[in-house]
Amino acid sequence: MSALKVDGLSVRYGAAGALADVSFEIPSNTALAVLGPNGAGKSTLARAVSGLVRKSSGTVTFGGQDLSTVSPAKIRRAGIVHLPEGRGVFRGLTVLENLRMGLAADPGRRAAGLERAFELFPVLGERRKQLAGTLSGGEQQMLSLARALMVEPKLVIADEMSLGLAPKLVDLIFESLGRARSAGVSVLLIEQFAGRALEFADQCLILQRGSVSWSGPADTAGEELLHRYLGEA
Ligand code: ATP
Repeated sequence: MSALKVDGLSVRYGAAGALADVSFEIPSNTALAVLGPNGAGKSTLARAVSGLVRKSSGTVTFGGQDLSTVSPAKIRRAGIVHLPEGRGVFRGLTVLENLRMGLAADPGRRAAGLERAFELFPVLGERRKQLAGTLSGGEQQMLSLARALMVEPKLVIADEMSLGLAPKLVDLIFESLGRARSAGVSVLLIEQFAGRALEFADQCLILQRGSVSWSGPADTAGEELLHRYLGEA
């Protein structure tokens, strides 16, 4: 079954086109890697799916529900959470307080949500009383992901979670995303490390200047292709 279906999506910023006629699907329990050079439109794609930028045309459906014109809040309620670039944790609050914010609107589910978060990410359990601002970069990303998972989303949109992190912490992030996947969450992954993203994902989509230049199974996106589209091997 296709969880997310994006069809003919275009986005303009004023006169400038940022996305033109982008279509793809993310079946349930799968991961799609979106790759492309700087400025290709990857973050715009993420923001259009989660309702943060206006679509000039195209449709977005999720689990059969038309989300093309609904608010970001409704899109979240439909089960899509967006982890934007940057860490987005409250640095002056503890790990526990940050996680509680994830279910601020639904305190009844908090205890079960916290239990699940600490089960998925034992490190956060050990550090529950530590201020988020004093966690390592990778741990902060983990916290941001754990908080997003509190609402039991069906799809996580992860935009450059590994940006600026040392390789060991990038491992941590992929491990964390892997745990979310094992728990049945689909992933739209925007990632600067093409190799890592392709290892993780089932499908891959390459964007160039706002258009899809290649899409296919992640394990068929070989070096030649990456070199041609991304200037790297
Ligand atoms: P990067 O890898 O550098 O983060 P990206 O692929 O995520 O890039 P976007 O951030 O989606 O690319 O940007 C796509 C294009 O749209 C770029 O040319 C960018 O300058 C432009 N753009 C993005 N946001 C806005 C905005 N709010 N207003 C005007 N132009 C924008």
